[in-house]
Amino acid sequence: MPDKTRPYRGRFAPSPTGRLHLGSLLAALGSWLFARHHGGEWLVRVEDLDPPREIRGAAAEQLRTLAAFGLHSDLPVVWQSWRHDLYAAALKTLIASDDAFACRCSRSDLFASDGLHHACVAQPSGRTKAYRLRLPDRELSFDDAIRGRYSQSLQREVGDVVLRRADGFWAYQLAVVVDDAAQGISDVVRGADLIDSTPRQIFLTERLGLPVPRYAHLPLLRDDAGNKLGKSLASLPIDAADPLPALRHVYALLGQPASALGHGRMEIVLQRALTNFDPDRVPTSDIGLDGSSFAAV
Ligand code: GLU
Repeated sequence: MPDKTRPYRGRFAPSPTGRLHLGSLLAALGSWLFARHHGGEWLVRVEDLDPPREIRGAAAEQLRTLAAFGLHSDLPVVWQSWRHDLYAAALKTLIASDDAFACRCSRSDLFASDGLHHACVAQPSGRTKAYRLRLPDRELSFDDAIRGRYSQSLQREVGDVVLRRADGFWAYQLAVVVDDAAQGISDVVRGADLIDSTPRQIFLTERLGLPVPRYAHLPLLRDDAGNKLGKSLASLPIDAADPLPALRHVYALLGQPASALGHGRMEIVLQRALTNFDPDRVPTSDIGLDGSSFAAV
């Protein structure tokens, strides 16, 4: 159970796979507003654990863009690529408790189960081993601060998830859990595209004996055709040289009164954004670029 007595500490954790777009700005601003509204700290963590997907210079560019929006990490920015030892220690703990196991099943070996891993196949064809987390046959539910109760059947809907990939890279699911705990994150506020990763992350947090954060999933932006913004033409990078229009847009998409922002220095505008922020107005389902709502995913 989340510990309600922990001081509020939130975070924004971009992957350096490109420039920030409206969807990522929404997650950055949303997590910052929630943190400040609760009198808490806000940290930035660069999730640079997947070199094949990363773009050189993207992390520095993302940090510059955040700064242009007046969004500064309260503590030095953490880079996941420096934290190999922490992830290795967590995996060792999980192997010792038999929560994690080595697996040589390749993607094609799991074809018959839609890519989900329920048990290793008789003759796995993978050449190198990955490590997976054993997920129990159990329904796990949590109360999302924006979307309400969310439940998932771990083994049936998720299967045994990869913690360390066969190519040797750490999986997001392990790193995010280890780092949120190591950084003392009390509240994870992020895009709703990650809500279906949350039950497995809660389970993993519990198995590592770490405190479970509270979760709030912000509305996901969709284009007119209903595609996730991150995957469509509408995911154009935001203009750090002229941040106010994007800030207004995103603030309005969060259900807040953009007219209250006025003009002036970014720090002052952000302060107004905070004063006028009401978490109860944040949309509880996905939204279009014009703020129209889509049914919850
Ligand atoms: N790095 C992830 C992303 O950019 C977000 C992780 C998280 O907020 O848990 O999608």
